[in-house]
Amino acid sequence: MDASVSRRDFLNGVGVALTGALLPTSSVEAFARLKAGEYYPPTRTGMRGSHPGSFEAAHALRDGSRWESAEDLSERYDLVVVGGGLSGLAAAYFYRKRFGSGAKILILDNHDDFGGHAKRNEFWHEGRMYLMNGGTLNVEAPSQYSTVAAGLLWELGVDRTRYYEATRKVSGRYRELGLSRGMFFDEDTFGEERLVPGYSGKNIRAFLAKTPLSDRVKKDIARLYEGREDYLPGLSSEEKKKKLAHSSYRDYLLNVARADPGVVPFFNSRPMGLFCVGIDAVPALYGWEMGYPGFGGLGLDPTPPDRLVHEPGGQHGRENAERAEAGDPDMYFPDGNATIARLLVRALNPDAVPGDSMEDVVTSRVDYGLLDGAGRPARIRLNAMAVKVEQESRGDVAVTYVREGRAERVRAGASVLACWNGVIPYICEEIPEAQKKALLYGVKAPLVYTSVLLSNWKAFVKAGVASVSAPGSYHTSLGLGPSLSLGDYHTSREPDEPIVVRLSHYPCSPGLTRREQHRVGREELLATTFETFERHIRDQLARTFAPSGLDPARDILAITVNRWPHGYAYTYNTLFDPEPWAFTTTSERPAIVGREPIGRITIANSDAAASPHTDAAINEAYRAVEELAQNT
Ligand SMILES: Cc1cc2nc3c(=O)[nH]c(=O)nc-3n(C[C@H](O)[C@H](O)[C@H](O)COP(=O)(O)OP(=O)(O)OC[C@H]3O[C@@H](n4cnc5c(N)ncnc54)[C@H](O)[C@@H]3O)c2cc1C
Repeated sequence: MDASVSRRDFLNGVGVALTGALLPTSSVEAFARLKAGEYYPPTRTGMRGSHPGSFEAAHALRDGSRWESAEDLSERYDLVVVGGGLSGLAAAYFYRKRFGSGAKILILDNHDDFGGHAKRNEFWHEGRMYLMNGGTLNVEAPSQYSTVAAGLLWELGVDRTRYYEATRKVSGRYRELGLSRGMFFDEDTFGEERLVPGYSGKNIRAFLAKTPLSDRVKKDIARLYEGREDYLPGLSSEEKKKKLAHSSYRDYLLNVARADPGVVPFFNSRPMGLFCVGIDAVPALYGWEMGYPGFGGLGLDPTPPDRLVHEPGGQHGRENAERAEAGDPDMYFPDGNATIARLLVRALNPDAVPGDSMEDVVTSRVDYGLLDGAGRPARIRLNAMAVKVEQESRGDVAVTYVREGRAERVRAGASVLACWNGVIPYICEEIPEAQKKALLYGVKAPLVYTSVLLSNWKAFVKAGVASVSAPGSYHTSLGLGPSLSLGDYHTSREPDEPIVVRLSHYPCSPGLTRREQHRVGREELLATTFETFERHIRDQLARTFAPSGLDPARDILAITVNRWPHGYAYTYNTLFDPEPWAFTTTSERPAIVGREPIGRITIANSDAAASPHTDAAINEAYRAVEELAQNT
């Protein structure tokens, strides 16, 4: 428990003992490394995601700082994209397609790596690479991607048939070993510390029998899963749905299904992976759509197709999860959707990302020194926070950004703001007040994905679990990275080999509205040090797996905390937002009001769709570029 992982790091394939000094880097340090040719952010460990050095200028801008005396670099582009996430990279791609490959483009991003949320965690140990997604996980419900988004993936070389062929062979490895999903009951919440394997709705009674829950709670959970009772007799399906839209799942369990309050901690973390809040802030209706227990006896009619059946991502709780995903498995690359970011960068700047297939991009080493090379058609400038975007009287857009603590200015014929909606009103003052208000409506959901490189996973096998739900713990879920093989990259197949484990944390404040919970959670994440995260990680891994042999001091090789205070785009929720915003495509939704073009400045990013999904980010990029085309 006492060993500090910050003394262990992995640099370019060689395990090197270091002091904590190499961990979080400022943009000044990052720039020095770029010049020295040592710059390779995917291998950085410690605090990642919104890492130190990436957000301070933005917060200073919010708090009133201004950079009036910027150095004019005399660089002129056809397009400056603010934000190097999937939306910004896709906007650059679409712009070149629309206006020709000779178009000069500059992409700015405040992080030390490109991809936005779609980041890659790359560990090396004894000459072998171990990958994990640092943020954006997978391509969800890919057959529901729009023609634009699916077309882009195809043009980038993502071949779904080939992907499924390659991954099918190995994806059953944990099942082969008899590993299941487990639940960890912690003493503070459940009165006793116990890891119970085999958590599944199908065998719920057998599972519950092994838990430390009281008989009354076990009985109520089984009753909810079996779903035979109609808890809203005498109401039509439509009337029931109306009621469910305005009760939280928590209220439904306690006040409609009349379950014992002891069921709340059992179910509480269930929606966190999608909404970053617990069951107090998710409508019961969304619970029904997502197949949560308790609705089987209500006899609700399936949502008719004239309601909002599909929005990007195929979920949000507003459409039936099973129907959305039927026959349409997600695609997970070894570094998550960082693969898509890398493929986009390869398309924009082939020399920087060697190779030519979706398989070889997984192991390709990006040459960061080439990203911002003069003469490259699409340049990516990292560690650069845009602080002012303004249209000049002569028709150019001037973009000022802060890099290394200094302000620099470039010009372009147009700009796509593929950055977060919450930032746009601060960097683009000419936006009308009503539009600024709309942009500031949604609050991005905070969350943390932590990747831990373990020297082996024998304790998981001994405990009989590949993943664990831990509803009362700091990390409400943890598990072995997906087992797969793509090109030359293969995840560990044997339990005595190293593996990357992921833990997820969602800072929630039950009792507040969803947006308020996100604001409080964001501050909490920004105030939490790496050492505190590390303590929680070691403590939780020890409590869960020490009985089956895991020793954190011996077995943890490296830790990367991907902190996302501004994570998922806000999605509308019938508990706190007007119903039509959640169920229709009304143009009154703040996301739609907020994304109006401002002359030669257009707005992309997934917030513009109020949808935290890759296809939303791509669709919005396409729209933003088309708006520029129509305005030319
Ligand atoms: C942990 C996590 C997991 C996710 N998992 C999935 C998933 O499995 N599937 C899925 O489809 N989606 C997932 N998402 C949603 C994901 O956000 C979208 O899929 C998509 O990646 C968003 O792309 P974007 O370009 O719109 O935004 P971002 O990826 O956030 O990129 C915007 C970039 O702009 C930068 N920026 C902001 N302001 C400025 C400025 N002033 N100057 C310069 N740069 C600026 C930001 O720092 C950021 O790097 C996940 C998100 C998170 C946080």
